[in-house]
Amino acid sequence: MMVLTRKMIEIRNMLNTVGQGGALTLPSIVVIGSQSSGKSSVLEAIVGHEFLPKGTNMVTRRPIELTLINTPDSQAEYGEFPALGMGKITDFSQIQRTLTDLNLAVPVEQCVTDDPIQLSIYSPHIPDLSLIDLPGYIQVSGKDQPPELKQKIVDLCDKYIQPPNVILAISAADVDLANSTALRASRRVDPRGERTIGVITKMDLVDPSRGVEILSDQKYPLRLGYVGVVCRIPQTAGLFSRSGHNITSAIVKNENAYFSSHPTQFGPASSVAVGTTNLRHKLMHVLEQTMAASLAGTRDAIIQELEEATYEFKVQYNDRPLSAESYLAESLDSFKHSFKEFSEQFGRPQVRALLKEVLDQKVMDLLAKRYWNKPIEDLSPVQPEADPLSALPKADPGSLYWQRKLDASTSELTKLGVGRLATTVVASELQRHVDSLIAASTFAAHPYAQRAIVDASSSILNDRFYSTSDQVENCIKPFKFEIEVEPNEWSKGRENVGRVLKTELRACEAAQKRLEDSIGKKRLRDVMGFVDRVRKGDVVLEGNGTGGAGGFSADLLQKGREASFLRDRADLIKMRLMAVKAKQCANPKNKYYCPEVFLDVVADKLTSTAVLFLNVELLSEFYYNFPRELDIRLGRHLDHAEIERFAREDPKVRKHLDLIKRKDMLEMVLQKIESLRQLEGRVKQHSQLP
Ligand code: GDP
Repeated sequence: MMVLTRKMIEIRNMLNTVGQGGALTLPSIVVIGSQSSGKSSVLEAIVGHEFLPKGTNMVTRRPIELTLINTPDSQAEYGEFPALGMGKITDFSQIQRTLTDLNLAVPVEQCVTDDPIQLSIYSPHIPDLSLIDLPGYIQVSGKDQPPELKQKIVDLCDKYIQPPNVILAISAADVDLANSTALRASRRVDPRGERTIGVITKMDLVDPSRGVEILSDQKYPLRLGYVGVVCRIPQTAGLFSRSGHNITSAIVKNENAYFSSHPTQFGPASSVAVGTTNLRHKLMHVLEQTMAASLAGTRDAIIQELEEATYEFKVQYNDRPLSAESYLAESLDSFKHSFKEFSEQFGRPQVRALLKEVLDQKVMDLLAKRYWNKPIEDLSPVQPEADPLSALPKADPGSLYWQRKLDASTSELTKLGVGRLATTVVASELQRHVDSLIAASTFAAHPYAQRAIVDASSSILNDRFYSTSDQVENCIKPFKFEIEVEPNEWSKGRENVGRVLKTELRACEAAQKRLEDSIGKKRLRDVMGFVDRVRKGDVVLEGNGTGGAGGFSADLLQKGREASFLRDRADLIKMRLMAVKAKQCANPKNKYYCPEVFLDVVADKLTSTAVLFLNVELLSEFYYNFPRELDIRLGRHLDHAEIERFAREDPKVRKHLDLIKRKDMLEMVLQKIESLRQLEGRVKQHSQLP
């Protein structure tokens, strides 16, 4: 018959993982008793080892769901905490320490919690049993304990002693049964005493005839009866226990010695039940009966739950199967797909445009620094209103000054570190795109995967960085010495720089407009006028105007300076735009008149050469390696637990996975119940045979 209990306990534990409880579980034996009633001693006598937390101030703060598994074919005795994944623990004092730690992890303010600790113990010397040890009832809270502790323990126990659980109510023989908190609690939920087993401990502490009186109690009659025990661990057995020996037999021997020394009261003719062995048998028998009685109801509840889960699966998920693995694989595939799409539209022309834009800006900065920043007189505007073209610098091609100026500007452009700059620009652009692909993908909800993807891309880009930037730098080297310009290059440059100057002009004007909007047109004009006068030397500014001047605050003066700078810059750019459009600038020979065009041509040459190598060294390498690197980091390297953790990061996926898991589990349990019922049928038939 015992195999049935084992299977039912298995079912019970499986149902526990589905959660919820209620009808969706099988009964267990719930152990209650006051502190010091000998509750731990009874459990340890059954298990054969000291494994429960001890100590005067140590209150068990969490229920311990204890599953005992009989292993007739193996001598090994060990425990396992299934939720902790610590593996087999053969040292019972370590189990004790772990239980202590798990209890102490409950914050003091919370006192007790109904979050159970699961512990399975395997041994050839124990029966198959499922027991739940609860915190012992206390009379008054200790000085370090919160005052509400007493009530919280009562509430917690009340939750567990509900039907169909069997109650193991522990009371000490040396305390009047009328004062037994355990029996009073059981009475409240089981008034007819139908599912309570009374255990009277410390039988050795009362007179034997008083002991018999207690065990045949009529005030609290229990259908399942009382059992008297002496569970104190004999001193020598305690030593044994520390060395890992099983202590059951030592306890039983000690107990037998006591009971057999009072044969009149406890001998074979006696009507009372005594002894730990007796208790074990009773527990096995009662648990099996109770579980079997609940089986049909549990089965119906499971069928109903399963129907609901199946319906939900159909309606909400259209019966779409999902596993953490398939979710990851799909997410990865679609991410790689979107990356491929991106790679197809971000190639050489796009890199070229990107890079040229950056160099255009560099050219603008250079021009501002070397040509446009001089006092305006330097550009010798002779009556600009009369003839705009005369506003050009008098850049006589024969003048060494203008030759040097252009040479220096060109050299600054070619030597600014184009290799590094170009590689940085393209690498950051790639990284930026990867980030936006992540944001648009399912990985957006998965911080772990996001990190892995970002790491994958940055590791490739970092790997390639130095060689790419070196290669590019090497290849542009010739431009550092000599630059030849073809007529078609010149005209293309002229066209382009016209566009760039216009953009720059618009940027200046927009910035000026923003200043105007922020302080008002008139005020801006006033403060600009003041700033101009200061610049001309008409007004002397004390302390550089840090405390304000001319009736303007320091902040206003600053804005005035910005505005007049922008105005001058805009004027200059307009002038240069006209110059670039002018006939002189159509001829490459006049490059000294038109440094804008010449520098644009240089920038263009640098860009073309850089792009050639960036494409091979960085882009193609990245496009080839990135998907492979993703496979390694998000595919092959992860174990099941990691993939599960990954998938469950997304609440929607978690819900979907949970439902499937629940459905699978319910199906499996149902199958187990069906086969159990068949087995039960066979066992019954067998026992009816003559
Ligand atoms: P718990 O607080 O209910 O778990 O009680 P314990 O099992 O820790 O027992 C409290 C005390 O009673 C311990 O000192 C035990 O040694 C002692 N004790 C337990 N059972 C017996 C028994 O049957 N006889 C005697 N004399 N002492 C016992």
